[in-house]
Amino acid sequence: MGLKGTKIYSILTFTCPRCHEGPLFVKKSAYSSGMTEMHKKCPNCGELYEREPGFYYGAAYVSYGLTVALWVAVFVALTVFDAIGIMTYSFFDDALLFLGIGIGLLLLLFPIVYRLSRSIWINLFVKYREDAAAYNEQQARERAERRKARSQKNA
Ligand SMILES: [Zn+2]
Repeated sequence: MGLKGTKIYSILTFTCPRCHEGPLFVKKSAYSSGMTEMHKKCPNCGELYEREPGFYYGAAYVSYGLTVALWVAVFVALTVFDAIGIMTYSFFDDALLFLGIGIGLLLLLFPIVYRLSRSIWINLFVKYREDAAAYNEQQARERAERRKARSQKNA
């Protein structure tokens, strides 16, 4: 894929937003048990995935947006299928059909929506770098130095 290095690539392949190599999630399939489990940091470049405590609470907003988009997509699909004569559909007569398909799809796609929300969320904050591993080594060194300076001040 020629998308490597773009946010779309990292989001859709659920890979590290910094290096686009390491996986975000421990289990490859979104439909296995433990599908919510994330690596603490990127196994490839060392980028910290849990950037601060509660970092992923914000992913709930993304999840909300995706859910709304899914309902809109169901509505548009039903309307288009009606327009091109695949089925007859009128929202006011067939509201239950709309609800049923929407809820069914949400249940079916829940694991994907969950992972996409987190993948999109972390991509809002982390930029791709070709020198990801070296960059994170430098970051870790600076963190260690700050810690040392703090503990010397407190001593
Ligand atoms: Zn990485």
